[in-house]
Amino acid sequence: MNIFLGIDIGGSSFKYGLGNCEVGLQYYQILNLPEKNLNTFLSVASKMFNDVDNQFGLNKLKGIGIGIPGAIDKITGCAIGTNPNLPFWVNHSPLELIPDNCKLPLAFDNDANLMALSEANSYCKQYAIGVTIGSGIGCGIISDGQILHGANGYAGELGHICVVDNGAKCNCGKNGCLEAYSSVEGLRNLLAIHNPLYSKLDLPTLVAKKETDPLVNEYCKQGKQLLSIALAGLATCLDPEIIILGGGAMDFDLYYISEIEKDILELLPKAHRAKISITKAKNGNKAGVLGAIKLIEEKFYGN
Ligand SMILES: [Zn+2]
Repeated sequence: MNIFLGIDIGGSSFKYGLGNCEVGLQYYQILNLPEKNLNTFLSVASKMFNDVDNQFGLNKLKGIGIGIPGAIDKITGCAIGTNPNLPFWVNHSPLELIPDNCKLPLAFDNDANLMALSEANSYCKQYAIGVTIGSGIGCGIISDGQILHGANGYAGELGHICVVDNGAKCNCGKNGCLEAYSSVEGLRNLLAIHNPLYSKLDLPTLVAKKETDPLVNEYCKQGKQLLSIALAGLATCLDPEIIILGGGAMDFDLYYISEIEKDILELLPKAHRAKISITKAKNGNKAGVLGAIKLIEEKFYGN
């Protein structure tokens, strides 16, 4: 049996797993990133490879797939542009993470793209939009079974579509981005304008307050509506079979999938409505690792 290593690098942890698309994950582990700097990052990567070597043997693997947040260069895998999650990793290559004695085939992509790839695969769909709503908003587009990258690797930046003219400041430096209205961090920032205490609310508390606090309720409603408008626009252009939503905001019911579905369907051209499904993600926090395995497995078998 061919076994691959999938790695999902996040701003606060390395998630990784061993397996393949047929049998799923045979082993899964999370290592936290205690500090956000290059030395800590490289030492956590080294710890992860030691663990994989002990668990399975690095030399028995058939390949490694890696998911990295932010935009990455298609050829080198280097993080490019600004990367608020891993600022110290910009212009660094995933090759720097791999032990010197390990010469395995490698595949890499953006973490949201890999989430979309694994979720589309779980639902057996070739045309899909996958979205994660947590601190930020991640999005991947699958077209004809493949990740859509665009000319420069920036495709799928749903979070940075402008939804409000001259609106709230976004982490990317622009104003009025969807992420500034519909992400958990965006909601907290909008609420904190009214009362700084709101900026400290964790996600479960924010969800609970939705029922009791009219201000929280109002901003959540706005966040959901703008998200639906952006997704309906994207779906009108791309004609996907499925829109899959995951991340903390969906897991904790900050937004209800039934309400988003209703909004999007109303905004879509009539002919599209019957042809699309809008659903919650299946793979949870393992989606990135599963996507990374799918990516390297496809490369290994030459698909
Ligand atoms: Zn933005």
